[in-house]
Parts: sequence; C-alpha cells; structure tokens
Amino acid sequence: MRIIGHVDMDAFFAAIEQRDNPALRGKPVIIGGLKHSPRGVVSTCSYEARKYGVHSAMPISKAVELCPHGIFLPGNMEKYRQVSEELQRIFASFTSLYEPVSIDEAYLDLTETYKKYSSLWELGRAIKDKIRGELGLTASVGIATTKSAAKIASDLEKPDGLTIVLPSDFDRIIGSLPVGKLHGVGKKTAERLEKMGIKTIIDIRKVGRKAMVSTFGKHGDWIYNLAWGIDPRLVEKEHTRKSIGRETTFPRDTADPEVVIKALDELCADVANRLQKRGLWGEAITLKLRTADFRTTTHTLTLKRPVAAKEDLSEGALLLLKKHWCRNESGHAPALRLVGVSVSDLTDVKQMNLFESHPLTKIDLLLADLNKKFGPGVVTTGNIESCEEKD
Ligand SMILES: [Mg+2]
Repeated sequence: MRIIGHVDMDAFFAAIEQRDNPALRGKPVIIGGLKHSPRGVVSTCSYEARKYGVHSAMPISKAVELCPHGIFLPGNMEKYRQVSEELQRIFASFTSLYEPVSIDEAYLDLTETYKKYSSLWELGRAIKDKIRGELGLTASVGIATTKSAAKIASDLEKPDGLTIVLPSDFDRIIGSLPVGKLHGVGKKTAERLEKMGIKTIIDIRKVGRKAMVSTFGKHGDWIYNLAWGIDPRLVEKEHTRKSIGRETTFPRDTADPEVVIKALDELCADVANRLQKRGLWGEAITLKLRTADFRTTTHTLTLKRPVAAKEDLSEGALLLLKKHWCRNESGHAPALRLVGVSVSDLTDVKQMNLFESHPLTKIDLLLADLNKKFGPGVVTTGNIESCEEKD
C-alpha cells in the first residue's frame, strides 16, 4: 500500500502578499489585475475576498463589482516562483519522490517517510509545520493511499487543513461527496450523471461499470474505478511531468505580427531556460492562441527528436503561428489576447547521451509537419532516423 500526500497552498499568491505586507492582512486581496484598468482574470484571492463571492478565473471587472473596496494587485510571478522553489525544497526534505502539479501544489509519495513517524497525523502536521515555519504560509494537506483520494482530502478542510483518508474511511469521508469532486469529472460529466440520478460518488457504484462505460466510454471506466477508490497513478518525479510552458496576456489585444513574434520569442527563451535548468528535452511544441473574443486554440508540432534550445523552440512556434494564425474573410488576422508556448513529451537529459545536440533545421520542422499530416515514418532522413534510438 502506498501513502500519498497532496499538499496545496492556501490562497498562495494572496497569502504571499499578505505575508510580505502586514497592511494587507485580514483584507480582501485580489491578484490578477488592477482596479482601474480591470482586465484579465483573478488568479488568486484571499479568503477575505472569497466572502464577497470573488474566486479565481473570474474576470477582474466582475471582482471589482463584487468587492469594490478590495485590494487589487497585478501579482509578482517572479516572487511566487521563488517561493515555489523554496516549497519544493521542503517537499524534497520529506521525500525524493514528489511531483509538483502546479506552482503551489504537489503530490508526495510518503510510503517510506511514514515509517519514521508514529502516525499519519504526526507526519501531516510535520509537513504543515515546516511549511509554516520556513515560509510563513499555510498549506492544506491530504493523505491517502491514492492520488485521487489525497487530492480530494486536501480540499476538504481548507484553509490550513489536514485530512487523512485511509481505505477504510473512504466511503464515510469521500463517498457522500458530490460526483464533481472526483478528478476527471468536469461540469458536463457531472450534469450528465445528475440526469441519471447520480449525485454522490457512492451513487456511481450503483450504476455499474457496464452502464458507465456505455454512457461515457473509457472515461466511464476511469470514473467508476475512482468511485471505488481505485486509482493506479503513481507519484512521478518532476521530470516525467507532461509539459513545460509559459503564456502571456498582452496588455492590449494585438494583431501586429511583430508584437506577437517578439512575445513568442521571449516565451520560447523562458521555456528553453526552464527546460535546460531541469535537464529536459521535449519532442512536441505546442502553440496556444487566444483571440480577443476569448476563443482559445492549441496547435502541436511533433518533432522527430527532442529539442531544448531556444532557437529550436522559436522556429517551431513560428511555424505553427504562420500556419494557424490565419487571416479571416476580410483579410485580417484576428487580434490576439494571449499567446503561449509549451513543450511536452519530455525526456531526461541523462537518457539523452545518445543524442548529439545540433540545432533543429528547417528540414526537421518540415518533416515533423509532414509526418504529422500523413502519419509517422512517411518521410524521414538518415540523420533523423539515427536519433530514434530512444528506449
Ligand atoms: Mg492552492
């Protein structure tokens, strides 16, 4: 049996601002935009702001309406990232097997760590105490035997919570929760389940595996397993993380190619920097575009070999931009609100010694593109094939 912890910081960005500026403590602090030029969305808000109905992902303009006396801050990602790195050092002091899922959240495999503590409560409190002592911030911790249960648990007593769900407690603590609490049950699935008369997680079991699969396909099988507390996912080290990426919202929507390309270039430099810091290479480049009307599209270029250099990322991103940022009927490319670049299919540099680091050429990109269209293996060159000895 594995012991898995899920640590989730409470109102992370807002809590950091309140920690660093006592004048903000006890006040509704809203991060993500300014009151007088209310654009963008709320990324985090303090618990004091939540009382007014403000929550993350809400447009700043709406938050201003709900909480006009709130303290609106643009946020300082550089600072938050630094705190996140300190947080990861704390995780590492408990276990070498931890998996950050976002800037303020991680899974920890505590199976070995637990042996040094007299109880899971003691271990959970030790993690929380260390975070509070070293960072001056509170975290909510869930401990269970699966990722899914640990994540639900960390949310149950937020903020500053500690919830332990052993398999024998699963039905009592998690079973009666609404289906939407399950990882992978989004709004739409929850609505469909509700129409089937299924409200709680335990209700899902009554439907039976067959009916879940015939209604939701493979996903139904996954949900059915989760409802029984079955979740085979293991905690994976950071380098097995699915992707590394960054995005930026323009101060003003723009259709100026120069502005867009410059932004992409900066994003690629940042992503390349982060890949290199972690010793990672990626085999797929994804471009994200959000137009002024909030329509978001993503476009992926799968390469024949991993890359990490800024030039390679830029070239790939640019190719995708040229192809997908298309003119409309009136001959104009739509104004963009946001662009993002991410790299996925990551490989650890230690497994990369077979590869010579040589920059991606135009021909590599074209091949990648053609292969994507016609399926892999259609077009290759000797040079590229020699890079496929990856196992
Ligand atoms: Mg959080």
